[in-house]
Amino acid sequence: MSILGITLTLGVVAALANIFGGLIVTARPWSRTFLAYFIALGSGFMLATAILEMVPQSLQLAPNMAPVLILLGYFIVHFFEHSWPAHFHFGEETHHEAFLDPSVVYPALGGLLVHTFFEGVAIASGFLISDWLGWMVFGTAIVHNIPEGFTVASIMVAARKKRHAGTWAAAALGGSRILGILVMVSIRQFVEFGLPLAAGVTIYVAASDLIPEVNKMAGMKIPITVGLGVVMVLVLRMLFT
Ligand SMILES: [Zn+2]
Ligand SMILES: [Zn+2]
Repeated sequence: MSILGITLTLGVVAALANIFGGLIVTARPWSRTFLAYFIALGSGFMLATAILEMVPQSLQLAPNMAPVLILLGYFIVHFFEHSWPAHFHFGEETHHEAFLDPSVVYPALGGLLVHTFFEGVAIASGFLISDWLGWMVFGTAIVHNIPEGFTVASIMVAARKKRHAGTWAAAALGGSRILGILVMVSIRQFVEFGLPLAAGVTIYVAASDLIPEVNKMAGMKIPITVGLGVVMVLVLRMLFT
């Protein structure tokens, strides 16, 4: 299969995970426990893949530029998710007062759309380098796409939007990721820019979106699940590289 074929197929799979996350927003309370473990596993898997695979590969591609681009990727997501007037965090939106003005919902959705666009750039960049890196980067998406769809749908609920608005918002995240894939595949000669930017974005989502949510949960099972995400990456590296 061509790079475009495989990355678009995986883009559709990731979009379905977003939509599934959006649909279970009303399925309480089992969905909360399920999501907590996904957020924990995702944070470990994403951070390990970014630091062990994406960063070294980026430094190899562009030794001088990569560090600055990694930093830029990190702060692009920080700006769009948190610095403009968007109320946003992973998991269930319980701060209904933050959405008394329903127009704040669009900056929050916009921030997530920027994040998913760069996930598309990341998946395509990965496959442009190697199948191994492509699958690992796809892994970083799929381990957190269900909580992501849930998050955006719960924002819609908090803003008292109609129930199907949550599903549409989750589908929009999938669409934005597919757009990121199409853009990166069509300007593939710039993969030396795309991969380090994507590495910075992945570090942000893992360490600044997901880990703070992990830290709110009590007990040992959740930190052990974070460690399991890291171990998964180490085992995959032993088996396939
Ligand atoms: Zn909130
Ligand atoms: Zn994401």
